Amino acid sequence: MRLWSRELWHLVGLAALGTGLGGLLGAWAPGLAAGLGVTLCIHLYRLRALYRWLTCTPRAEPPVAPGLWGDLFDRLYRYQKGQRITRNRLRATLERIQQSSEAMRESVVMLDRHGDIEWWNSAATDMLGLVTVHDRGQHVTNLLRDPRFVRYFFACDYAEPLTLVSPIDERSILEYQVTRYGDGERLLMARDVTRLHRLEQMRRDFVANVSHELRTPLTVLAGYLETYGDLADTLPPRLGRGIGQMQAQTSRMQNLVNDLLLLSRLEIDQGGEDHARLEPVALLERIAGEARALSGDRHRVTVEVECAASDRPALLASEAELQSAISNLAFNAVRYTPEGSQLVLRWRHDTSGGFIEVEDDGEGIAPEHIPRLTERFYRVDKSRSTASGGTGLGLAIVKHVLLRHDASLEIESSPGGGALFRCVFAPARLCR
Ligand code: ADP
Repeated sequence: MRLWSRELWHLVGLAALGTGLGGLLGAWAPGLAAGLGVTLCIHLYRLRALYRWLTCTPRAEPPVAPGLWGDLFDRLYRYQKGQRITRNRLRATLERIQQSSEAMRESVVMLDRHGDIEWWNSAATDMLGLVTVHDRGQHVTNLLRDPRFVRYFFACDYAEPLTLVSPIDERSILEYQVTRYGDGERLLMARDVTRLHRLEQMRRDFVANVSHELRTPLTVLAGYLETYGDLADTLPPRLGRGIGQMQAQTSRMQNLVNDLLLLSRLEIDQGGEDHARLEPVALLERIAGEARALSGDRHRVTVEVECAASDRPALLASEAELQSAISNLAFNAVRYTPEGSQLVLRWRHDTSGGFIEVEDDGEGIAPEHIPRLTERFYRVDKSRSTASGGTGLGLAIVKHVLLRHDASLEIESSPGGGALFRCVFAPARLCR
């Protein structure tokens, strides 16, 4: 403010000087005009200096000037310097980020809010075949056209990664993961999981082959043991007991091999070919009959349907696979609940999908076991499970079958409060 009033005083001073000198010569008005003209010339001169400085040598020291102009030059110079430092810092940070993304073995692709490609690292060039001149600004689904990727990208549910064959080399397997950031922008990461995939494949093949090879010797053993079992009365009691135990163990191994083979088939097959309209209530009635037979009427088994017969949608599913999954749940409920327990097989549906539930009022399961129940060979009580003829693969089979039906398994249970196993099917699986 001080500088501003000083500038005003300068102007008034020059105008007064001009007027005074003009008055002495008898022409005060031209004197005033001359005084104002000199002021204007001084300001035009400073303005010209500012313009030349900003256009020709913006990085040089500012021109020297007194008063308001000098202060203006200094402030502009300091502002410019601050901007330059910030810009350099930003550039250095950006370079560091780019260098670290370049060093990554994973592909990183930056997408704008519309899904158009903005930037990618060199790993993405090798892995996804992106080419700067053609691909910048293209929508990502124009380059990764596999329908499964397109569905994954537009479904916007990126909780799980997606594994697909590489778009440029069919021997490579890539795992895609999309992350959201900023204002609707997305980051697409891809990593090569070919080695992991091959190991997994080898493991599956190994289990499938071993199980398959064990099947024939076990059938031969079981056949002979059955024949010897028929002759048990004629054998010494110790031998007869041994044959009984061998029969029980052989049958356990046969169950195990059958479950392993079923799991391998579920993992290896793509599935979906035998999916057809299935009447869930008829399926539940059938399984309830089998559960009653297994229980020998020691449990009360009922089927509940929460809608009228005229309003029952069918389920698009593989009958053989669902039969195997739901009977696993029902037989578990028979095996792991005490005599006299109640077992309910339930079908219901609403706008969020269809639900098959298997509920019992047995001893239930402690919460720490629930997240691990679908792991292979996981048992809550190993000795009880083995005694009941369990293989530890039942719930793993259920989970796989449901995965092949875009469905999921929910387990609700508490010690002493029974157990509820719920198969949740998406609305798209219901057909009228
Ligand atoms: P298994 O072949 O041993 O039955 P599963 O995978 O079918 O293996 O089940 C895993 C474990 O879950 C079982 O060992 C059992 O302890 C527990 N379980 C399953 N169903 C029930 C149930 N209805 N009530 C209590 N425990 C259960």
